[in-house]
Amino acid sequence: MTATRLLLPARARQQPEWASLDELKDVLLALENKPPLVDATACADLATELGRAAHGEAFVLQAGECAERFADATPDVVLAKADELHALADEFTAAGGPPAVRMGRIAGQYAKPRSNPTETLADGTELPVYRGDAVNAPEPTAAARSALPSRLLLAYRHAGTTLSTLLERDLGLAGRTAPQRTYAGHEALLLEYEQALVRKGTDGRGYGSSGHFLWIGDRTRQPDHQHVQFAASIGNPVGVKIGPSASPEDVRTLVRMLGARRHPGRLTLIVRMGRDRIVPKLTSVLRALGDEASDVAWICDPMHGNTRVNGAGQKSRAVEDVTREIEGFVTALHAHGLHPAGLMLETAHHPVTECVDSAAELASARPLPRYESACDPRLSPRQAREVVAFTAALL
Ligand code: PEP
Ligand code: MN
Repeated sequence: MTATRLLLPARARQQPEWASLDELKDVLLALENKPPLVDATACADLATELGRAAHGEAFVLQAGECAERFADATPDVVLAKADELHALADEFTAAGGPPAVRMGRIAGQYAKPRSNPTETLADGTELPVYRGDAVNAPEPTAAARSALPSRLLLAYRHAGTTLSTLLERDLGLAGRTAPQRTYAGHEALLLEYEQALVRKGTDGRGYGSSGHFLWIGDRTRQPDHQHVQFAASIGNPVGVKIGPSASPEDVRTLVRMLGARRHPGRLTLIVRMGRDRIVPKLTSVLRALGDEASDVAWICDPMHGNTRVNGAGQKSRAVEDVTREIEGFVTALHAHGLHPAGLMLETAHHPVTECVDSAAELASARPLPRYESACDPRLSPRQAREVVAFTAALL
């Protein structure tokens, strides 16, 4: 396998080493000629909703998979996920929260940043890591882990069928109930794919047509690297994950580069510090931003700063840590006169046992029995509902 970094200028982290550069070129050309997956008007509508959320008039519930699987892009599974997302949003509003904007981590959440490029199996074999279905497959064989450019075309196709299913669902329900749209967001990680899907919007400006909301992950948010420059170049509402290593100065640079001033809802910062760090870290960021903090939609990701390995060696998270981070997030924003704009959760639509309720359970050496995630541990529907009800009560 040869390293193929040719099509991108330097300084893009977390890009796969594609198995064939020739094939990659053909795939990108094919993608450039495909219709957009989402239209610019829907992206603009979402930006308006995010702007309302930043002002406390709405609240964004973004929930779904850590890593979507291609095999789940069937109408049945997509509808089950959408139903779960909307049930969660209804639960939130019923518990006293503001009207919920409903967004899935869906229809494109096919690429994962990883801490290490390789992993070592029990027998000593070293393999490239799984980077999401848009790149390779999770099975622990060299063939499955090969980064195949043809997978980008499959990502486009499966995102397309997922979006059609979501749209049909929303249109079908609109006749009978108050119309509630399902927005789709994913991490914009694979820059060649994202760039190939940039289309001209109604204002003549380019927008990323792979999803309504595109965010940059915590590992790729360096202001002088390609991911942030890509986000700055598109018209969509964009997000950036802000973890404990983000310096307040870097966050200020990001807010300026990503044009938060342009209009409310343009920039969302998705804060994921961990339960013990959220208050001090978010407070220093808010102090450094001063007035500019009110241009941003602040969303809490209470999952990624609270990932732990349990006694059985599985990645897990405790709901108790999740709710504590949310509490700290709300407290820090309120202390600055700002409104929490939303929550980003990793959830399953069926009752998995990947997260535990209390931190004490993480000590158990007994493996969690229903652990099916291709990547990070997800909340079960019951756990997710508890988390949103808790959040609604805080607001
Ligand atoms: C994720 O959202 O799945 C993720 C990888 O998050 P982060 O970039 O915050 O680590
Ligand atoms: Mn994750």
